[in-house]
Amino acid sequence: MSRRLPNASLDVVLPAFNEAANLPALFARLRGVLPALTPHWRLLLIDDGSSDDTAAVAQAAIAAGLPLRYVKLSRNFGKEAALTAGLALADADCVLLMDADGQHAPDLIAQMHQAWMRGADMACAVRAHRDEEGPLKRWGTRLFYGVVNASTRTRIPPDAGDFRLLDRRVVQALNALPERNRFMKGLYAWVGFRTEFLPYEPLPRTSGRSHFSSRGLLRLAFTGVTAFSNLPLRIWSALGGAIAVVALAYGLWIVVEHLLYGHPLPGWPTLVVGLMFFSGVQLLSIGIIGEYVGRIFDEVKQRPVYLVAQDTGNPA
Ligand code: UDP
Ligand code: MG
Repeated sequence: MSRRLPNASLDVVLPAFNEAANLPALFARLRGVLPALTPHWRLLLIDDGSSDDTAAVAQAAIAAGLPLRYVKLSRNFGKEAALTAGLALADADCVLLMDADGQHAPDLIAQMHQAWMRGADMACAVRAHRDEEGPLKRWGTRLFYGVVNASTRTRIPPDAGDFRLLDRRVVQALNALPERNRFMKGLYAWVGFRTEFLPYEPLPRTSGRSHFSSRGLLRLAFTGVTAFSNLPLRIWSALGGAIAVVALAYGLWIVVEHLLYGHPLPGWPTLVVGLMFFSGVQLLSIGIIGEYVGRIFDEVKQRPVYLVAQDTGNPA
């Protein structure tokens, strides 16, 4: 059992990819919020291969005495990898994950910390709405969570993101998961533990724009689906069975039509359409299997999820 005392230590993991413009304001706000919670707090900035002034901003903050540990990854590995690095390097009694772009309001941290002190193992901020997102993205999100949650025992809550406070036990559980394809929202749900959900209003970025393009989101969605659902694989057995039944019925019908009514058999359009349709279905199903095989290949290669190039900073 970890220590849920007023002086328990708190690490704040901030994954950052070219967020230099947002960091000073974020540091100032965190400095205003965290000391009220515990004297033993520390920021853990994971620089995910930034090419802007992120390093200089971090070094300046360290020189100014901010309890900040600056860890630079050897290149851009992606947000899930940066979060994985943060969780592996954090060693406090509880660990807060939050975006470095100002979209996660520090005001909520006190509530999350209270939830943890009351005994929650995970305090998770849930976005109150998706009003700022376009209809296509919202529809895609619904479809994604529909597919993932249709076939897994672990329900992944749709509007709960990476803004959460984790107890040490949860952090250890996440660190013990060996997979390379890391869909964090799924992993939080998979490890379980007592989770409390707190609604929050997502804020606009203080500067810059989102790093997730539609393609990036689609890739993340594929990682999520393949890591948490076998539904896309199983669809093909069902579809194959259904097609076989239809084909059998159609075959019988042709026989009956020919023998009973003596109709001739002009079949080539049916043949061509059938051939093209089923070739398409087969290629599609091979492609889906390929997605899974590709992930298996990633796992067996056993490459690390991230590499650290630099690790400096002040103690808590
Ligand atoms: N991020 C990262 N590596 C990446 C992309 C993003 O560490 O390859 C960080 C980014 O700096 C930010 C957080 O992940 O702190 C969320 O990213 P972003 O704001 O671009 O995503 P969105 O808010 O649109 O989900
Ligand atoms: Mg953002």
